Amino acid sequence: MPEAELLAGCEVDHIISRKHGGLTDSANLALSCERCNRAKGTDVGSVVGPEQAFVRLFNPRIEEWSEHFQLTGATVESKTDIGEATVRLLRFNSPDRVLQRQVLQQVGAYPIR
Ligand SMILES: [Zn+2]
Repeated sequence: MPEAELLAGCEVDHIISRKHGGLTDSANLALSCERCNRAKGTDVGSVVGPEQAFVRLFNPRIEEWSEHFQLTGATVESKTDIGEATVRLLRFNSPDRVLQRQVLQQVGAYPIR
């Protein structure tokens, strides 16, 4: 999401929370919107699939967004288990967020190129 479109802007988030031993250094920090950061909390992963296997969340420092997600219309779809855990836990497709993406798409402001 373009930072300019966020009321609260972005904030720096620990990818692996300090609670789980994550360090406060650039390799473990990412710029996050407030909503994603609040939804993530101190989580480092979630469970997916019928076997409820634990998978870690997407790490923007070591992975490409397009490996794990695709944009279909204004909905972020997962392509992998990591993507699925991240989409669900961070609530990427809550109705208001999809609507926000739709509006930004209509004015050419999403996705960022
Ligand atoms: Zn976000």
